[in-house]
Amino acid sequence: MKKQLLSLIERHNATVAALNRSELPVPGDKMFRAMEIWHKLACEGSDITIMARENGIDAKCNMQTGQITVYGSIRESDKDTEGVCPVCGGELEYNGDDIKTCGGGMHPWTCQKCGATGAEGYNEVFDGQHYNVRDKDGTPVPGREG
Ligand SMILES: [Zn+2]
Repeated sequence: MKKQLLSLIERHNATVAALNRSELPVPGDKMFRAMEIWHKLACEGSDITIMARENGIDAKCNMQTGQITVYGSIRESDKDTEGVCPVCGGELEYNGDDIKTCGGGMHPWTCQKCGATGAEGYNEVFDGQHYNVRDKDGTPVPGREG
């Protein structure tokens, strides 16, 4: 079962990666369709993650892309810290409404120190990643756009 789940995760991630390569950037009129596919992938990723956890595989799902990460394959340096600005290390202030996704969501935040904004992902608990990071002028932070 464990082996089958791991290969399922692999196939799911391959689909996520293929979609990211071929579908982006998405023309304006196709955005809705792309969001639908993304939402399906995120839901599927969430379901697979729950199954994996029930079978003793410590996995987490990126609620934005649907990409599944199996713990043990994450480098410590790649992990964000809950409540800490990924740009300057300042303290985050949560504001606005949560963005809900299947099995989790994202808390929008603003950094009190540098004015950066973003959203903290959670999958029942903090999912180990910040999304949509922008500086105080709204410019996406290199490497942190997703
Ligand atoms: Zn900051």
